[in-house]
Amino acid sequence: MNPPSPDPADSPRPAAPVVAELSHIDDIDVVPGARLADLTTLRIGGRPRALLECATPDAIVAAVRSLDAADVPVLVLGGGSNLVVAGGDLDLVVVALRNRDVAYFTGATDDVLLVRAGAGLTWDDLVADTVARGYGGLECLSGIPGSVGATPVQNVGAYGVEVAQILHRVRWFDRATGVDEWVTPDALGLGYRTSVLKNTGAAVVLEVEFRLDPGGRSEPIRYAELAGRLGVSPGERSDPAVVRRTVLDLRRGKGMVLDDDDEDTWSAGSFFTNPVIREDELPTVRSRVAGRLGSAQAEQMPAFSAPGGVKLSAGWLIERAGFSKGHPSSSSPARLSTKHALALTNRGAATADDVIALAREVRDGVREAFGVVLHPEPVWVGCHI
Ligand SMILES: Cc1cc2nc3c(=O)[nH]c(=O)nc-3n(C[C@H](O)[C@H](O)[C@H](O)COP(=O)(O)OP(=O)(O)OC[C@H]3O[C@@H](n4cnc5c(N)ncnc54)[C@H](O)[C@@H]3O)c2cc1C
Repeated sequence: MNPPSPDPADSPRPAAPVVAELSHIDDIDVVPGARLADLTTLRIGGRPRALLECATPDAIVAAVRSLDAADVPVLVLGGGSNLVVAGGDLDLVVVALRNRDVAYFTGATDDVLLVRAGAGLTWDDLVADTVARGYGGLECLSGIPGSVGATPVQNVGAYGVEVAQILHRVRWFDRATGVDEWVTPDALGLGYRTSVLKNTGAAVVLEVEFRLDPGGRSEPIRYAELAGRLGVSPGERSDPAVVRRTVLDLRRGKGMVLDDDDEDTWSAGSFFTNPVIREDELPTVRSRVAGRLGSAQAEQMPAFSAPGGVKLSAGWLIERAGFSKGHPSSSSPARLSTKHALALTNRGAATADDVIALAREVRDGVREAFGVVLHPEPVWVGCHI
């Protein structure tokens, strides 16, 4: 991602008077000329009214509290890796979280170690630090872009581990009550790629505590592909450093580790969540797959039991509906990743409209082919699918 670049050709945008007041606070920097295109991994998005970089929890709370009181729309920003933002002039102020403190301490029992990290810390820096110290717990979530504070927002997960499994506590600023407090995971309503914070902005996560294994054992390896690569049986634990290396390797092969030189990673990650359908809908979906692709494909269709029904693979459905990797073509400004059909990518010149048009084409194509509705995973700002 490029740093925010002021464009001298642009006229400055008038910021709300509250922004001028906030600029006097020591740990708040007002950054001129910001564009969301420079702050998001999908590299799209227009100009906010202002960008406030906040270096401490107190600064974040002061900024959000004042902006809310002045009725100024706020976009809380971490690493910008789960956002689809409209172009043009945006009627909002970006509060970018840049508090990055890390502290380790023992939990209630000796076999548990806790790490507390600032919401603005880059998630993978925290994972790398825990693994380098020989602690287990976060290794399967290696390489996920974005910030520590956003991980509970959509209960990030990969390779058989979700944040819900390792989360100890969250310090948040509740925007309705104005209270800055520590809460336990049950307050977060964590589910598959969701929580009470996703798409609501109800609270701002200021700091997060995770449970670690000081004995250097990874989380149990539950994901078959990862277990196979590691040569362990599903459910066994392994060396966190080896797991991290292996996960990063697997992710790179799918364009899922940010890389300025690889346009397949200029994305918001998986663009659609894996759809969960009712169990009684499964035979209908299988028969639509059989009608289109034959009974062998219908039998092979991935389907796993999950809370609420049966989870299907969005990537499998997208490819079987006719959207192969790289769709629609090498000259398209927005196209599916050439490594992973579930990622929509900006090849450099795409606008929000290009991304939205591609997302609609894929969503509608899957619905027409198999009767399954795909839901986008990223958060939409000023636009919608
Ligand atoms: C290449 C790539 C691979 C990815 N792989 C995965 C994956 O394997 N698993 C997975 O789950 N996700 C994945 N993602 C999605 C994304 O990385 C995660 O959702 C990540 O947690 C987003 O963090 P962020 O700081 O970039 O959030 P942002 O994009 O900055 O924000 C996303 C949303 O969260 C809100 N938010 C951010 N920080 C806070 C906070 N501190 N308090 C309250 N609200 C906040 C924002 O307001 C916004 O609504 C991937 C993305 C990319 C680009």
